Amino acid sequence: MSSKNNLIILFLGVILLSAAVYLINRPRNNMNVVFVTFDALRPDHLGCYGYNKPTSPNIDKVASEGVVFLNAIAQSSHTAPCMSSILTSAYPLQHGVFNFGDSLSGEVTPLSKVLKKNGYATAFLSSHKGISTIRNFDKYFDSFYCIWIFGDQWDDNKFVNTQEVTPLAIKWIENNKNSKFFIWIHYLEPHFPMISSFEYKKMFAGYRHNPEINNLPLAADEVYGIGGLPNRLARLNNYNKNIDYYINLYDASIRYADDQLGQILNCLKALHLSDKTLVIISADHGEGLGRHGLYFTHGFRLYDELIRVPLIIYSKGLSIRFKEVKNQVRQIDIAPTILGLLGIRKTVNIHGANLAFLIKGEKVHGQEYAFSFLPNKLSVRTNGFKLIYDTDHNSYEFYNLRNDAEELNSLPGREDKEFINFKDRLAYYADEYGSFKGIKTRLSDEEKKALHSLGYLQ
Ligand SMILES: [Zn+2]
Repeated sequence: MSSKNNLIILFLGVILLSAAVYLINRPRNNMNVVFVTFDALRPDHLGCYGYNKPTSPNIDKVASEGVVFLNAIAQSSHTAPCMSSILTSAYPLQHGVFNFGDSLSGEVTPLSKVLKKNGYATAFLSSHKGISTIRNFDKYFDSFYCIWIFGDQWDDNKFVNTQEVTPLAIKWIENNKNSKFFIWIHYLEPHFPMISSFEYKKMFAGYRHNPEINNLPLAADEVYGIGGLPNRLARLNNYNKNIDYYINLYDASIRYADDQLGQILNCLKALHLSDKTLVIISADHGEGLGRHGLYFTHGFRLYDELIRVPLIIYSKGLSIRFKEVKNQVRQIDIAPTILGLLGIRKTVNIHGANLAFLIKGEKVHGQEYAFSFLPNKLSVRTNGFKLIYDTDHNSYEFYNLRNDAEELNSLPGREDKEFINFKDRLAYYADEYGSFKGIKTRLSDEEKKALHSLGYLQ
């Protein structure tokens, strides 16, 4: 064969290879993505996760036709690291955000950036002001809205601007209906201050919850309550100390947020986009409703009530049908799953697993161990066990979740196979952890004031 023929064969080979790479990489569909997260929403307060009060008719409707993940684990119990882990599919040690004011590392691959590269219009809208203080978070979206109307005086009508976020989100969807779009809406509800209108409060008033504690102690801490009801919350509610009263406020707040979701879903329907849209519902973290000394707050600890989140994925256009998945999954799996369902190949620096395989009933590896982080705590969890390491005290708590789901009886000093396995897994991150201690936040006075009013800062 002549060298000319060889060259032609080589040339054709390169063309074929390029075509194959293109076919593998190109998005397989043109689905839009509507991703709605709620701040501090516990799955066990939603109908689709077994709650017996009418908190979530719209979420339940989506869940009844979608995939419901029963054991989804957040990568922290604080808004800033959780939101960053969702966006980047990275653990806090990798994206670098432990608190408000921290910067997202340049080494991460944000979901919205990948989608933008694949022709998507991207937007983030939230009524949680704190997210705008995460440096670099906003730069990966075409549209970013995260403002609240802030006043020195507490004013139910002025404090939270969720009522503005929904119409803005609807307007953005209408404006982008002719292109592929990704919109992430993060509602502050049901996070403190749990303000909703009288109608919603009335809907849930008077329910009893058989709580462990009825007459709540006031927290010694002025702002953020550990060991008692946050003074700020008590003050807003005429020093009512009945835990049922506050749980009912929490539920009313969920119902209010659920109605916001209903408006977004109605908008998709009116624009004939329901079949062309992937809908994902989740939360950044859970909430302490009395257990382990945390009352209507979060952060500080890594118990299940603070790190378990709802996760629901629905898409008629992708033939997703109702299914409950018991496997443990993580927040960092959300981004690769969205990319997987859209047919976009996994990109670099994405650490989570593509749950599209789990949805199809196939096996997935890599997500069995979920790590969660706080500035002074790390945990590793499976559906069977959880180990929490306190870096301040160099101490461990170890729980068998199968017979102690409430994490009330730590098994200290266990040196059996499981404990050593979990300790070894945590050791890797514990070593890495050192270099991240002492991150200085850079918050402006206005940001500090805004975060203080949400109970975040002293
Ligand atoms: Zn939060």
